[in-house]
Amino acid sequence: MSEVTKLSISDSPRDECGVFGIFSNDPEVDTIQETYKALFALQHRGQESAGIVVNSGGEMKCVKNLGTVAEALTAKELDSLPKGSIAIGHVCYSPDTQLSRVSTQPLMMRYIRGSLALAQNGALTNKAQLYKMLEQGGAIFQSTSNAELIAYVIASLRLNYATIEETIVNAMKELEGAYSLVLTSPSMLIGVRDPGGFRPLCLGKKGESYMLSSESCAFDSLGAEFIRDVEPGEVVVIDENGVRSFKENCTGKGSLCLFEYVYVARPDSVIDGVSVYQARMEAGRILAKEHPVEADMVCGVPDSGLSAALGYSVESGIPYGMALIKNKYIGRTFANKKLSEREQVLKVKLNALNAAVEGKRIVIIDDSIVRGSTCRYIVSLLRQSGAKEVHYMVSSPPFFNPCYYGIDISDKESLISNKMSADELCRSIGADSLGYLSIDGLHSIAKGCKVGLCDACFTGNYPAKIPTEKFEDRFARKIDKK
Ligand code: SF4
Repeated sequence: MSEVTKLSISDSPRDECGVFGIFSNDPEVDTIQETYKALFALQHRGQESAGIVVNSGGEMKCVKNLGTVAEALTAKELDSLPKGSIAIGHVCYSPDTQLSRVSTQPLMMRYIRGSLALAQNGALTNKAQLYKMLEQGGAIFQSTSNAELIAYVIASLRLNYATIEETIVNAMKELEGAYSLVLTSPSMLIGVRDPGGFRPLCLGKKGESYMLSSESCAFDSLGAEFIRDVEPGEVVVIDENGVRSFKENCTGKGSLCLFEYVYVARPDSVIDGVSVYQARMEAGRILAKEHPVEADMVCGVPDSGLSAALGYSVESGIPYGMALIKNKYIGRTFANKKLSEREQVLKVKLNALNAAVEGKRIVIIDDSIVRGSTCRYIVSLLRQSGAKEVHYMVSSPPFFNPCYYGIDISDKESLISNKMSADELCRSIGADSLGYLSIDGLHSIAKGCKVGLCDACFTGNYPAKIPTEKFEDRFARKIDKK
């Protein structure tokens, strides 16, 4: 198998999923179309696969495929689905180099008490132990996805409890790590946020329809009203009688991923009481105070560096401008290239605006640096375009540690911060100066957040258990021939 990488413009780590669900008491509402539109709004959370399950009076049907929402869900396929009062949807980025159709979501299953469909965002930290325990009990898995594991845990506990809600509340005690879920049972839409609340999940309403979404931007795109965030540890159940809440697993604490504010979420979303746009603006303002430079223009690496660049500009008084143009029309096939082709792909994805850059001292704001290859490319691009000086500013602290809670920062050795100090990296990429946001600065951007925060990839202070056992890929190991 060739070595493959999935490229983002800014070399940033990727989130693994976005989820959405709708329950409507209004038969006129097309829950499939509403879900389809919502998935477009959540597309930034994953472009590797997309899927929708519709629940029509307890009968569930699914369409899902690899690719972006537009690629994966064709009009013909959507038209083939029956109408239903409940629908759930999923977009996915998979860190697996070979995402297979079997691990795409939503996952649909039939078990002893009927049907269940599930879409998940996050990563379990006790995956190895759960697989071992369940396989020793005879469980058979078709993929290595967290979603299938969670579905299995729920199904295996279902006979012990009178209701699906009670089952899920108790299944949560078996699950460790990060998971925001939307599920549909035959008659309900259910939302679950893990006790850490690592990944966001919120509740919205439009007319007679209730909705659950990874981010509030999906509600805006549907003309729906944001009601509230689902609390860390909470289970929200929506049926024809309205919304009920189960808070047995709520601790009142939480550890929302700070990187949601820096990079993952869309700027027009509000998460746990903090506007993502304002958080990024604030990151830029703090960067300007922590790393002041004299320059002619402040620019952002599109798209997630743009708001922070504006903040830097406002605070420093240096004019804001555009230095880089991003090609937004590159699909999944083109993005999955061999590592050796990375620079050529970057050339197609990102270009400099010569007319704006030439002869200027540029401050360029990026949301993060992971491997260091993209920042090197950007500095050389700006130099080639005639920039007199290039000051590289990063609106997050350096990464030193892996993330076990659903963001693709898995390999400590590949993180450039573990190999070079900021000064060394600055010299290595040919910048005139390089500055990272401080940890205190990072926490300041989420001032007013209603839950606790996770900063573990920057500090190493993990707020929840991390894996103690390596997960063995069931499909890679040798088959028992006896
Ligand atoms: S370790 Fe980093 S990326 Fe992972 S959840 Fe915590 S802050 Fe987010």
